[in-house]
Amino acid sequence: MQVTKTQNTLISNLLGFKQRGLSIGFVPTMGALHEGHLSLVRSAKKQNDIVVVSIFVNPTQFNNQEDLINYPRNETKDIDMLQQEQCDIVFIPAVEEMYAKPDTRIFDFGTLDKIMEGEFRPGHFNGVAQIVTKLFDIVNPDKAYFGKKDFQQLAIIKYVVKALNYTVEIVAADTVRERDGLAMSSRNGRLSEEQRKYAPDIYKTLQAAVSMKNSHSIQSVEKWVTDTVNKIPTMKVQYFSIVDADTLQPILNWTDTNSIIGCIAVFCKTVRLIDNITF
Ligand code: AMP
Repeated sequence: MQVTKTQNTLISNLLGFKQRGLSIGFVPTMGALHEGHLSLVRSAKKQNDIVVVSIFVNPTQFNNQEDLINYPRNETKDIDMLQQEQCDIVFIPAVEEMYAKPDTRIFDFGTLDKIMEGEFRPGHFNGVAQIVTKLFDIVNPDKAYFGKKDFQQLAIIKYVVKALNYTVEIVAADTVRERDGLAMSSRNGRLSEEQRKYAPDIYKTLQAAVSMKNSHSIQSVEKWVTDTVNKIPTMKVQYFSIVDADTLQPILNWTDTNSIIGCIAVFCKTVRLIDNITF
């Protein structure tokens, strides 16, 4: 497995593979890897000749500096894990490598970023689009892998790929969960023992909400989920929205569309967790 820190080395290494007609699968991450990330790597490994994983904690997507400072970093362990998965190339650039000059690009996401993460984390998706397009330009992959756990991010990436005529195919992967249902996240390690004990109740509440679909209105399910999660010790809901899974726009009736998703963001004191469920 090659570990590279510079884009020039990465580009020249990839050129050799591309000239041999080998397909490239790409998995962008911010490191502190867990089984969720590894599921993307495994899919990439199955569907491509060469797998590239990037590890980069992208400063432009953090709207909260404390969150950036506290974001878990574990490069040595990450490299070991990727080696085990027989990943071919790991790209671990420094901030100066990716942002030699400030990136002043402002992206348009239509209506996709007006609610949920876009509303509560101003500038977040613009930063995501900055780094993902830079990485796509460097790696030029055939396929790129993203998790449904970050459902709105996935929609934004698909939008950007279409809007900017990237030829990469975006592959979406199901959310990997702990045995107790908690969605795996690099941030879970920052939960206290007590918070970790209660955190699976978020997903349990979402599951219970799905069973209310035919007997309750959307508004009452949204209110019930918010109230129920707010009653879990140490938890405070930032939003829970039931939306059209394609447009991410709020819906008023269950019959408005065929694909419906409920997305939640919860603060467990200072740790912010997100999750979602299909209705
Ligand atoms: P991150 O390192 O958090 O930026 O995540 C990198 C990629 O892994 C993103 O596409 C995430 O959606 C995906 N991912 C993170 N957690 C999970 C999970 N529990 N299951 C599946 N994919 C995940």
